[in-house]
Amino acid sequence: MSHEELQGQYELYAMGVAEDPERSEIREHLDRGCEVCMKEMRRARQVASMIGAAAPPATPSAKLRRRILASVGAEQRSFGWAPWLGLVAALSLVGAFYFEARERSSLEELAAVRSQMRQQAVDLTRLNEAMTIMNGADTRQVNFGAGPKGKIFVNPALGVLLIATNLPPAPAGKAYEMWVIPKGAKPVPAGMFQSQADGTAMHVRTGPVDMNGMTVAVTMEDQAGAAQPTSAILFAAPLQ
Ligand SMILES: [Zn+2]
Repeated sequence: MSHEELQGQYELYAMGVAEDPERSEIREHLDRGCEVCMKEMRRARQVASMIGAAAPPATPSAKLRRRILASVGAEQRSFGWAPWLGLVAALSLVGAFYFEARERSSLEELAAVRSQMRQQAVDLTRLNEAMTIMNGADTRQVNFGAGPKGKIFVNPALGVLLIATNLPPAPAGKAYEMWVIPKGAKPVPAGMFQSQADGTAMHVRTGPVDMNGMTVAVTMEDQAGAAQPTSAILFAAPLQ
């Protein structure tokens, strides 16, 4: 594989999310001390650290990968990694803008890019949280579907991760609210989220949960959020 073909892969590698064959290829180049790749990796690590992202300690395990692919089913295979890879690609782009702006020494542009990077860093934190929940040994997963489709991952110590497709963006002033409903108790607010233009959404609520008989549900609420659901439940996933 040529170095041109590896362009854009170094950032993914630095963040621990590169995929094969590029991942193995880069590792092999680094192992044999390829100077081009070592230079690229130094640059990529700089980008990753400037974005404020602590690179995940390891590449996603095979188990995690299987879990993600299984979570969306064969017919929705294209979903899989797409939201995350899109995010990481966006991060690489931000890095590229950063360097371009720095060379032009435009303070204004730099300020704009920095604020963009801060936003992306928040997203990367969520990505890491999501991966941690998915990869947890005690994590359980439940499907939901009929209209919006997707998967809920629950880990008793780490929290709840919701991944949805076919969920249209909420109208102006509205947003989706996730609820954790403990067995025989009132719904507990578990955070607001929006879906992307392509109808995909990812939402994480970190912190311990009692999985015994709990249900995870989603309603549409005013953007500010509600303390109790004020509209019909759009979809719910009971943990058996
Ligand atoms: Zn190389």
